[in-house]
Amino acid sequence: MERDSAIFDIIQAEYQRQLKGIELIASENFVSDEVMEAMGSCLTNKYAEGYSGHRYYGGCINVDQSETLAINRLKKIFDAEYANVQPHSGAQANAAVFFACLKPGDTFMGLSLEHGGHISHGLKINTSGSYYHAIGYTLNKETELVDYDEMERLALENRPKLIVGGASAYSREWDYERMRAIADKVGALLMIDMAHPAGLIAAGLLKNPLKYAHIVTSTTHKTMRGPRGGIILMGKDFENPFGKKNKKGETLMMSTILDSAVFPGIQGGPLEHVIAAKAVAFNEILQPSFKDYATQIQKNATTLAGELEKRGFNIISGGTDNHCMLVDLRSKYPDLTGKMAETALVAADITVNKNMVPFDTRSAYQTSGIRLGTPAITTRGAKEDMMVIIAELIEKVLNTPEDENVIASVRSQVNEIMKDYPLFAW
Ligand SMILES: *Cc1c(COP(=O)(O)O)cnc(C)c1O
Repeated sequence: MERDSAIFDIIQAEYQRQLKGIELIASENFVSDEVMEAMGSCLTNKYAEGYSGHRYYGGCINVDQSETLAINRLKKIFDAEYANVQPHSGAQANAAVFFACLKPGDTFMGLSLEHGGHISHGLKINTSGSYYHAIGYTLNKETELVDYDEMERLALENRPKLIVGGASAYSREWDYERMRAIADKVGALLMIDMAHPAGLIAAGLLKNPLKYAHIVTSTTHKTMRGPRGGIILMGKDFENPFGKKNKKGETLMMSTILDSAVFPGIQGGPLEHVIAAKAVAFNEILQPSFKDYATQIQKNATTLAGELEKRGFNIISGGTDNHCMLVDLRSKYPDLTGKMAETALVAADITVNKNMVPFDTRSAYQTSGIRLGTPAITTRGAKEDMMVIIAELIEKVLNTPEDENVIASVRSQVNEIMKDYPLFAW
């Protein structure tokens, strides 16, 4: 059969787009050649429903080993007693925890979407908001930090079974200790979704939520720089608080309940090629060089936020502790929407995404902000000096977002700069 050039031409075009542009989407990254190689391997051919040693298919001798390796490496990274590497994505990991901890109609709390929360934390048209009763806590209007007093008040009022922490667009450290105290006070379980900052946590640059939360979920493709996927962790396993017992009448451990919530609860066969790629990424994280990488992500984010502030941009929460920042465009450009800003910057090969800001006056489709992150551009090798240039270029484009000459000149400048920053070699 002839090569399917229709699709491979598209892949080649995407490679060129990634190669030439400045990637600032906070949730994206570039994986290593080895991660890519494992992902594109023959493991994709294998069915392996179940877990290592307890599969519903024959011939699992090799994938049993790679899945076990992935689990052991992951446990080592976060000092975990339990890890499940099978969730197909971060949203799947969350869905599995909800399935394990909640019954339809049960109440849980998560950060409100307009304040940086994720769709899987209670959006009405997501299973989390449709099967369960979601209560959203918010940021404080003055400080633009998570309002833990409000969280406590809402928890006492609504008696949730589960409290969820973690966000898609929040640049500050979390007070996990306070959250655990609130959860304990109302008899709720605490789940922290570290999908965004997991890589910085792995490197020891931010607090490890496994020390405070009952259950932790994450993606593997954001700051962890692995393949697209999800994981579930526990610092310490514990007896399930729902009274679930096995056939012998023994109380089940939470690990058993979480495993069965992933499979057969919400998924069928695991993606063993992706799990092998996760194992490769976890090994990379365990190397000393990953700490240098994560440190540089954080330095770059701090520098970029500072440079933008110098130019009159308003950074939500007053700065960043991690890899990302939310820019409220309204102070500098009252008439510019996030959507217009995204369009202009993307045309200049600077990729960002529009994002609602807390207490936004515009819709989720227009928005008043953009979200920026440094994990991907740091993988390309960018340091602080590059952040100064990026801030300049962003301002230049957004000063006249509809001027095609400016956009074209910034785009060629971006393409020229990125020639010096290598991408994985295909
Ligand atoms: C990105 C993200 C997820 C979801 O990840 P997917 O892999 O896209 O399903 C979940 N939670 C948070 C907080 C995220 O930012």
